[in-house]
Amino acid sequence: MEIIHTRNQLTERVLELKSQGKRIGFVPTMGALHQGHISLVEKACSENEIVGSSIFVNPLQFNNPQDLEKYPRTLDHDLPMLEAAGCHIVFTPTPLEMYPEPVKKQYDFGELEHVMEGRYRPGHFNGVGIVVERLFDIFQPDKAYFGEKDYQQLLIVKSLVKQCGMSVEIIPCPIIRESDGLAMSSRNRRLSVDQRQHAPLIYQVMKQVRERRGDIPINTAKEQAFKTLQDSPWFDPEYVEICNQKTLQPTDSWEEPEGLRIFVAAQMGSVRLIDNMSLSS
Ligand code: AMP
Repeated sequence: MEIIHTRNQLTERVLELKSQGKRIGFVPTMGALHQGHISLVEKACSENEIVGSSIFVNPLQFNNPQDLEKYPRTLDHDLPMLEAAGCHIVFTPTPLEMYPEPVKKQYDFGELEHVMEGRYRPGHFNGVGIVVERLFDIFQPDKAYFGEKDYQQLLIVKSLVKQCGMSVEIIPCPIIRESDGLAMSSRNRRLSVDQRQHAPLIYQVMKQVRERRGDIPINTAKEQAFKTLQDSPWFDPEYVEICNQKTLQPTDSWEEPEGLRIFVAAQMGSVRLIDNMSLSS
């Protein structure tokens, strides 16, 4: 596996691969890798001749400086995992390498960015847009792999690709969970033993809504789920939303032809957890 730190070096390598007609699959990450990330790399390996990944904790997408500071950085643990998964090239730039000059670009993601993560993390998706566009420019991928764990991000990236007229195909990948239902996340490393034990409550409340879907009004289902989290001494919930899974707009009908999804964000101590689940199939 090649480890590349600079944009110039990577651009050169990509040009070389492209001139050989190689198809490139790309998996962007912020590191502190787990099986969720690896599932993306494995899928990319099954569909492309060359797989590239990036490990970059993107300061532009953190609205909370403490979250950025405390974000786990575990490169020595990550690189062997990528290599074992079959990754060919990993790009590990510094913030200065990615952003030698201040970036002013402002995207308009329309209604997608005014709900949930967009609302609770101002500037987050603009920062995601900037880094993803820049990484796509460098890697020139044929396909790029994104987890449904960050479902809203996945739709934002699809919108970005459309807006910028890029030819990359975005491949959604299912959420990988621990055996007790907790969605794998780099931030889970920051949970205490006790917090970790209680963290699957998010999964349980989503599952309960799924099991009772159609039986009670959507608003009641949302309120009950929110209250269950609020009543737990372990959680401070930010939102529980049930949305059309294409537009991400909240709905009060269980019968959305485009499909429904439940989304949850909650603080557990200083760790912010998000998760979602399809309510349709
Ligand atoms: P991150 O390092 O958190 O920016 O995540 C990098 C990519 O991995 C994103 O596309 C995430 O959606 C995806 N990802 C993170 N956790 C999971 C998971 N538990 N299952 C599937 N994909 C995930």
